[in-house]
Amino acid sequence: QERTLILVKPDGVERGLTGEVVRRIEAKGYRLVAVEMRTAPRDLLELHYAEHAGKSFFEPLVEFMASGPVVAIVAQGDRVIEGFRSLAGATDPTKAAPGTIRGDLGRAWPTAVTQNIVHGSDSPESAEREIGIWFPLLGE
Ligand code: ATP
Repeated sequence: QERTLILVKPDGVERGLTGEVVRRIEAKGYRLVAVEMRTAPRDLLELHYAEHAGKSFFEPLVEFMASGPVVAIVAQGDRVIEGFRSLAGATDPTKAAPGTIRGDLGRAWPTAVTQNIVHGSDSPESAEREIGIWFPLLGE
């Protein structure tokens, strides 16, 4: 079965939304394989977001992601990668549809695009890469 790497970002943890995110993952029938709260060091976050290196939002994004604890989750299920991304909704919470995590819980503030509650892997390749970064002991 497919696996994906999900992060409850520092804004989600700070706002007490971890349980709500986990509830939606489990309600859909996905299984939790690993869950860990931690404050990520910058070098881990730079690896995680390597594809965005050099973009204007890269530095503020890494800074924000290092600003407090995140909850890293590996979830498993049929088509969980695409499935979690539809649960999460559009990257920009001000554009995310009602019924999605970002659409229901995201705030219409200028910082909303960066502080958008969750991350989810976007392909099988990035899922395995990101699981390796966050959970190096979790083999395939
Ligand atoms: P994620 O990978 O976190 O699920 P995504 O795939 O929808 O989000 P990406 O384009 O991969 O979005 O961007 C990764 C993260 O970078 C976004 O979740 C968001 O926090 C931040 N980000 C993306 N675009 C912008 C932007 N234009 N301004 C500020 N932050 C941004």
